[in-house]
Amino acid sequence: MIGHTQEYKYLFGPVPSRRLGRSLGVDLIPYKTCSQDCVFCQLGRTPIKTITRKEYVPIRDVLDEIEAWLKKDGKADHITLSGSGEPTLHSNFGEVLRFVRENSAIKAVLLTNGSLFQMEDVCKAAHHADIVKISLSAWDQASFGWVNRPHPDLDFKQVIEAQKSFCDAFKGELWIEVFIIAGMNSISADVAKIAALAEQLKPDRIHLNTAVRPPAEDFVAPVSPERLASLCNLFHPHAEVIAHYKNRGDFEFRANKEAIYAMLKRRPCTAEDIVGAFGMHFNEVSKYLGNLLEQGQIRAERTSGSVYYKGTEIS
Ligand code: SF4
Repeated sequence: MIGHTQEYKYLFGPVPSRRLGRSLGVDLIPYKTCSQDCVFCQLGRTPIKTITRKEYVPIRDVLDEIEAWLKKDGKADHITLSGSGEPTLHSNFGEVLRFVRENSAIKAVLLTNGSLFQMEDVCKAAHHADIVKISLSAWDQASFGWVNRPHPDLDFKQVIEAQKSFCDAFKGELWIEVFIIAGMNSISADVAKIAALAEQLKPDRIHLNTAVRPPAEDFVAPVSPERLASLCNLFHPHAEVIAHYKNRGDFEFRANKEAIYAMLKRRPCTAEDIVGAFGMHFNEVSKYLGNLLEQGQIRAERTSGSVYYKGTEIS
């Protein structure tokens, strides 16, 4: 079972997702290219921070892979543009969303930081999604700077105004994810400001998240589950804490998780080591690590700037 996605270059999973059930990931961006460098990013720091849109990977090859996957497997709850950076940087991401909608009954999802909606082409392309999920964790330029560390050409007010225009016209489902970091954007007065902005986007759902997996920066700390739950009341619609993923008894999920756990019981490894050992996508590995962490089977330790995972039985 391990390495079942090796035959694909741009697809990973389906991975178990806390929000999306079984989600086939489509990665359109080389690791790690993004318009932001969020302190909480689970992919680590952003080496290539850009707002330049281009065909980072050949779109024809991506569509061919999706077509092959639909014929061969085709079982997922969602097909999601996510992966090694910000998907709207790819100049043809809308083609992928359109292809999924025209060729399958699976819902097409765009996970985005929402920073590029000022660009008309980004808005047009995003309209092809069934679900768009935007991240929003700041309330002004200063907090945008310290939480999301955006590209210098991004202005928070303009970003929000552009998001409002997009959301007003968008016919699909709109979700917002707010990432709460202890001491950075966690006091009620600041969360209330984020909530006020979120309400203006008229979302269908709001999810609160916190740093349950190792973030890009070691000063990023999670808030407690109780605190996160109490902050939900500030949002309209009422926010939900993203529930821990429940293993659906999926054999493939268990087999992959057990193989990773078996390796981590023997020696500490970084996520990159596991990616290399099993030929899985980084995001896929991240899901299994998240589940093992939640269940207390492994722990994470930062040594010389790298995060190592090891079985809790190893001292
Ligand atoms: S926008 Fe997403 S991919 Fe980019 S740095 Fe932030 S969390 Fe990471």
